[in-house]
Amino acid sequence: MQTSDYQRLDRAHHLHPFTDFKALGEEGSRIIERGEGVYIIDSEGNRILDGMAGLWCVNLGYGREELVEAATAQMRQLPYYNNFFKTTHPPAVKLAETLCRLAPPHINRVFFTGSGSEANDTVLRMVRRYWALKGQPEKQWVIGRENAYHGSTVAGLSLGGMAPMHEQGGPLVPKIAHVRQPWWFGEGRFGEGRSEGQDPETFGRECAAALEAKILELGEENVAAFIAEPVQGAGGAIIPPASYWPAVKAVLAKYDILLVADEVICGFGRLGEWFGSVHYGLEPDLMPIAKGLSSGYLPIGGVLVGDRVADTLIEEGGEFFHGFTYSGHPTCAAVAQRNLELMEAEGVVERVRDDLGPYLAQRWQALAKHPLVGEARSLGLIGALELIDPATGERFDKALAVGNLCRDLCFASGLVMRSVGDTMIISPPLVISHAEIDELVDKARAALDATLARLADTTTD
Ligand code: PMP
Repeated sequence: MQTSDYQRLDRAHHLHPFTDFKALGEEGSRIIERGEGVYIIDSEGNRILDGMAGLWCVNLGYGREELVEAATAQMRQLPYYNNFFKTTHPPAVKLAETLCRLAPPHINRVFFTGSGSEANDTVLRMVRRYWALKGQPEKQWVIGRENAYHGSTVAGLSLGGMAPMHEQGGPLVPKIAHVRQPWWFGEGRFGEGRSEGQDPETFGRECAAALEAKILELGEENVAAFIAEPVQGAGGAIIPPASYWPAVKAVLAKYDILLVADEVICGFGRLGEWFGSVHYGLEPDLMPIAKGLSSGYLPIGGVLVGDRVADTLIEEGGEFFHGFTYSGHPTCAAVAQRNLELMEAEGVVERVRDDLGPYLAQRWQALAKHPLVGEARSLGLIGALELIDPATGERFDKALAVGNLCRDLCFASGLVMRSVGDTMIISPPLVISHAEIDELVDKARAALDATLARLADTTTD
């Protein structure tokens, strides 16, 4: 089949996630056929540097035979069995042990799911159940953050703070509140009616104060948990100001509220530690995980459960009426196990922390001089560029969709860089080399130049 055949069938039968079906039908999809290392290859033979590691997940890169072999061997042995009704199987047991060894010392249990969204559904039910078992069933409110992403199931989207998602298909799960996000460039520097022109550190502390205000408004006795990504991913690779997490930790220390760190993106080396929480010195009670757990080769997620919650669930609980057919799926678990073994053996996480992260930071920072760029930020192997109008130094009119234009020009120049509004983001495979980082940055710069040229064309037309 040729590209046009795939596109025709795709248009006829396939509804894509997070997609304007009509607009895609008119344009036609890009067909990705192969992956090699940090590159994807489309049906026209174009070799594209995957600056997003798929959807923030292909941490070990494409084409790892060891993971193929792990899947094949497990499928021959036992392709599927469940973990219900007092049974389990070696891959789930081994993976549970490995995860708890890699997690901070107070975390010694895992509940498996098939995805990050299911992990966050599990979180919601688990924290409410925890407090019920503690004799405080009124502690049901969960506080999340505006513009956070915690998944697409009803609980995931309710915990998340994406306004366009909240507008569709409600009502949402009750007793979930949201506080402002620590996105200095968008909400501190440019205000948007809030704290115009603040310095990042004051802004970070103000965001933590907003959490405390919300706890007091709802009443500590009604609040079960605070959920947050260590670095917001889908919201725009939002690396909070240095003051933010210490200030949030100080707030949480005052109240009896659980902390949930959503590690679906930050986990497994993205920030240069096994978990983003370790980078920020957080001690979360629960950590939802997915994506990089299997480098995206097979779908698997879970919730790492700290002793405080797990001990109560085990000692005081009866049956937890919750679980998925594919909780701890043996083939997915075997691939995840092999993936973690390879990451450990190859020192992938340390390399991100000590070598690749600092190298990317230095190269990425050079893009801050580009006239279209108001801020370039990165941490480990996650990064963002904030686009601004060089004529005014302000944000572009949203209707111009400059971010999308830049993204399309990136694709055309052989780089996947994603746009969230006018924030361009990257999250490449953790096995990227220096030369490939150079290529990524050069292609990003070329796309910025092309965007600028295109904007100049439209203004002179
Ligand atoms: N949490 C976070 C932080 C995520 O980034 C995502 C996915 N982008 C999810 C949860 C949901 O994961 P999944 O798509 O596997 O359901």
